[in-house]
Amino acid sequence: MASKGMNKINRIRTFALSLVFIGILVMYIGIFFDSSPLIMTISMIIGFVFVISSSGIYFWIGMISTNTVKVECPGCGKVTKVLGRVDACMYCDEPLTLDPELEGKEFDPSYNRGSSRHKS
Ligand SMILES: [Zn+2]
Repeated sequence: MASKGMNKINRIRTFALSLVFIGILVMYIGIFFDSSPLIMTISMIIGFVFVISSSGIYFWIGMISTNTVKVECPGCGKVTKVLGRVDACMYCDEPLTLDPELEGKEFDPSYNRGSSRHKS
């Protein structure tokens, strides 16, 4: 079923997707300013920047996806990706935490590589 979008990766994807639409919309609006080449050019550039940054975000999602942990959701039984220590299920938004599973795995280099944010 469609996700409600609480999962971090899903939220970033939604954000990137909306950036594409905003970018296209801004470029589309720019077409109506054909009497003013300056406004048209600026809106084209802004729209282009939105689309480009969106693909940058998609690339970033690909990077952080390698740091996600696949867990079976206790709520719906589906395998979901968890980003960070606490995240929501991609399918049913069940809050999931990795903390109990991280015991003894604290120095796993593949985990540490992705966790630059420290809670202090
Ligand atoms: Zn679930």
